[in-house]
Amino acid sequence: MPSTCTHTFKRSDAPSSIQGQCIIQEIFDLHTEVCGAEYPPLPHDEDGECIFHSTHEAWKREYEGGLWAVRLFSALQDLNGLFPEHGRVANLFPDGHVDLREITWIGMPVSELHNVTGQPIGATLDLSGFCLDHLKVWLVNSKWLDRVTSQKGEWHTLYWANSHFFEEVNFSESQFYSLGFHGCTFEDTCEISASFHTSFMTFSHCVVKGDFHLNDNEFEAEVSLNYSRFEGFDMAEIGSVFKKYVDFTASQFYTMAKITFCTFEQEVTFLDTVFHRRAFFQGNTFKRSAVFKREKAEAPLFQEVIDF
Ligand SMILES: [Zn+2]
Repeated sequence: MPSTCTHTFKRSDAPSSIQGQCIIQEIFDLHTEVCGAEYPPLPHDEDGECIFHSTHEAWKREYEGGLWAVRLFSALQDLNGLFPEHGRVANLFPDGHVDLREITWIGMPVSELHNVTGQPIGATLDLSGFCLDHLKVWLVNSKWLDRVTSQKGEWHTLYWANSHFFEEVNFSESQFYSLGFHGCTFEDTCEISASFHTSFMTFSHCVVKGDFHLNDNEFEAEVSLNYSRFEGFDMAEIGSVFKKYVDFTASQFYTMAKITFCTFEQEVTFLDTVFHRRAFFQGNTFKRSAVFKREKAEAPLFQEVIDF
């Protein structure tokens, strides 16, 4: 059955290999054809948009948008195993790109779970345990209305641009080839921990209104944490092994910064990085230079106490 979703993309920032129309139905159809998976009909809202691209939150929850999200990643996991050898899979995902842009994601209710303070955890999109080690998942201009989490995942590429996370984001104990956030807004905590990254990670032009945790990761390639604002109530905490260049250019820490127990094997640059609150730098190993430099910033780099 051809795609019936009426959603079309703005393609200005897409790689040329990415097509400008919804491919969700085609993904499920291909999964049915090559793996024998069976699905109920993909729900479409009154505007003709599929359960993924629809922005009608109440309707999406009624029609189990969170369950559909997990079904989609399950289908992608199976198709990932056939890429790039299977011709139709390769055709649907040019250069391995899976275009999941402009989707409003919701999770599934998990009312039986509680956080450490005893408060019930709201709906969660749990992407734990998925292996997409060949396909590059492109999540541009997306909205994430619920908590999103993934433990023990194996990802080639997860790339977000101009996306908005309304609840907590938590990736841990995972493997990435590349992980990218560009121009994203986090209303709550963002945590990326205990993961192994074989290629670059970018976290650029982002705003994190909750706490930020980048702990116990090992980065084999360059990491950019530049042009971002960290505004959390408690802290922005960075404690990882960085084997290549790390760039903090023009980032602003409006929360306490704890850059502690890191290993920087190559240069790390704090060019016009402004620490508006107390900054902790204890326990780090700098094998090359750490550059603290003010060029364009109007304020001093350190506006409060710095602990080395
Ligand atoms: Zn769609």
